[in-house]
Amino acid sequence: MRVAGAVVDVSNVCWSDALPPAGRHFPLLERLFLVRDAWHRQFGERTSLTLVADDSLRRQLGPTDQLRLRQLERDRAIRFAPMADPVLLALAEEHGLHVISRDQFTDLRNAFPWIQRSPGRFLSWSAGDGTVRLEPSGIRPISPHAVSRALEGKVLKFEQHLDHRDPAHRKVLGHHWRCENPDCLKARYWPDRLHDWPLLNRGGTPVCGGCHSAVRQLGPRTRPRSFVVADLRTGEEYLRFPVGEGDALEVGRGELRHGINLGSDAVNAPSEVDRVSRRHLMLSVQSGSGGPQVTAVDLDSANGTVLERGGSSRPLKPGEQQAFGVNDRLLLGGAVSIRLSGQRHFSDEQQALPRLGTAGGGHTRLLGPGDIAALDLGPN
Ligand SMILES: [Zn+2]
Repeated sequence: MRVAGAVVDVSNVCWSDALPPAGRHFPLLERLFLVRDAWHRQFGERTSLTLVADDSLRRQLGPTDQLRLRQLERDRAIRFAPMADPVLLALAEEHGLHVISRDQFTDLRNAFPWIQRSPGRFLSWSAGDGTVRLEPSGIRPISPHAVSRALEGKVLKFEQHLDHRDPAHRKVLGHHWRCENPDCLKARYWPDRLHDWPLLNRGGTPVCGGCHSAVRQLGPRTRPRSFVVADLRTGEEYLRFPVGEGDALEVGRGELRHGINLGSDAVNAPSEVDRVSRRHLMLSVQSGSGGPQVTAVDLDSANGTVLERGGSSRPLKPGEQQAFGVNDRLLLGGAVSIRLSGQRHFSDEQQALPRLGTAGGGHTRLLGPGDIAALDLGPN
């Protein structure tokens, strides 16, 4: 097959836990190199690859990967954009390139109508037998309404049916799962792994809650840490979300592929949430000798993140890796606060990531002088 080349959705590749190390939901640069090697193996050494990454990836990677990323940047081998998707789709359109991404680009179908006309140009990856292979990603015509209806349907009222005391249920609750049915909307929406629980059929086999076909068992699910989000002005809690050990999550507003939408209209978010950046903060949980360690990184947010600890507070520098403990609080854009929950046991519902939709992703409102005076940030 003769191809002009491909553009790689670098953030999507690095975050994909369908690539080794399987089941690890944390951005890793080695996944990019596995995909690059697969491309050259399948399409020839001379076919070019164009790498496009979200700006936020610079701060999401671990320290060693950040150095390797900077080297790629110095070599002009990668380009960055605040949002990579429209940039890489425009490049693919202009130069007739393939697109390597697991994303369905549902929110960009109107802007790039050729996506649905050229599904063969979109490649995803699989990693059976330790070898990474690129294959058609399965772009199909979908109406966003059909997807959301499938996701919000009553089949998702699965929590009540799972019981920690039952060994079969514990197996479901203790692992990550993936639906691999190419015709399943959930599988298309969540290609790496299901974000909700599978159901158990009559025979006790875990099946996809969307299409009822058997699901693949991925790695074990570790005990998450739970984060509590509150309206900074009233102190009222309005959202909780979990982050598993070894995992990372973006915290921001609007549509986030790997994140929590603090501005969702599914929750009672404060009106000031528009001061939170689309990609504001990354929270990650690593296993440590004294239990899970939480790290917070400000992703160069417009209005900043303040760390409150022991009666004093100071702003985080963008990209700074800040250890975060049970007595600390993070203040985002002077609008919301985040703290760690002390909770040790989690209900099924609390272990699942809340589905928060894409609302609230408009422009970030910059803090004005009046806003700043109203914020009592204490001594720095
Ligand atoms: Zn399915």
